[in-house]
Amino acid sequence: MTIDPFETIETEIVRTCPLCGSSGIKLYNTLHDLVFESKGEWSVVQCSSSECQLLWLSQRPTIVDLHKAYRSYYTHDDGELRERKGIRFFLSRCKRVFVKSYIKCRFGYIHAGFVRIFLMELLAQLLPSGSDSLAIEGMLLPAIDQPRRLLEVGCGNGNMLKLMRELGWEVEGLEYDPKCKKLVEILGLRCSLGDIREQQYPSESFNAIYAGNVIEHVFDPVSFVKECSRVLKTGGYFVVLTPNAASFGHMYFNRDWRGLEPPRHLQLFNLRNLSKIVTDYGFELKIARTTNRGAWYILGMSTSIRKARYCGSRTAKSHIRMLSCGGLARQLLGRLIQAFLSNRGEELLLVAIKK
Ligand SMILES: [Zn+2]
Repeated sequence: MTIDPFETIETEIVRTCPLCGSSGIKLYNTLHDLVFESKGEWSVVQCSSSECQLLWLSQRPTIVDLHKAYRSYYTHDDGELRERKGIRFFLSRCKRVFVKSYIKCRFGYIHAGFVRIFLMELLAQLLPSGSDSLAIEGMLLPAIDQPRRLLEVGCGNGNMLKLMRELGWEVEGLEYDPKCKKLVEILGLRCSLGDIREQQYPSESFNAIYAGNVIEHVFDPVSFVKECSRVLKTGGYFVVLTPNAASFGHMYFNRDWRGLEPPRHLQLFNLRNLSKIVTDYGFELKIARTTNRGAWYILGMSTSIRKARYCGSRTAKSHIRMLSCGGLARQLLGRLIQAFLSNRGEELLLVAIKK
């Protein structure tokens, strides 16, 4: 373990691949956190095994000091609790009704006719981000005929859990951020604080676990997957979303790719190594693909990070212009790329079933 005398975040060196134990090859040096402006200079290496190719921070915050990397991290907005008036509230209500209707039709919560399903899918495809952005709100889980237990790891403000409860699930959240825990509890939902490996959930106690944008943040992703497998019932669903290290955005922006997010993203997966870690620990893959539902944000932020670096700025905030024609163009470009290069989407999406 080493202490960088110039910065306040204590770091430790990770010499071997957290998945396969191979050595790493230097990919990027002197990366800065231009998004949330935490202190430090970071390096990313790539696993030398051609079968693996995991990316990881070669010198990462220690588990004790990791919270310092989240000091200026966004806290999730207050979602359902914000002021209930105005055009934005009205539009968000309309969106929520449509999302819920779409999920009910697509995942079998209601027996919709062919015409209704066709129209819903058509409308969803007309959205800039396509149907994935709606389907993921339903956590890609099939309809249930009786209450089943669902755990969302990294549940943020609890908005997705609230929707899942409305669809009949017995829901529970898990968060690292005490502010999020409070927001989720105000919605009347149960939420625990900390890491899943600290919770001592009984074995086979959940029917589904959803972990969206979590696995890239955790220490020891292998034990994370093992613990999820242990607490899931046989036949239970494990849904994982995480940035795709083999995405078009990473290929194009390289060190400026938003998905790198040093020093909070401790490792970054591709479709092959993420599929392997999941299947190695008792799961059968049902869906393993990429999605570009957030291309407008990831490609937009990557553009901002690049501009900030060229200007010598330590923050990309002044360069962010998400709601623009450029943002729409990037989202449409993302969908076009995915149509021809299906494994180059900005996020990995896995749905696995416990064997
Ligand atoms: Zn490896």
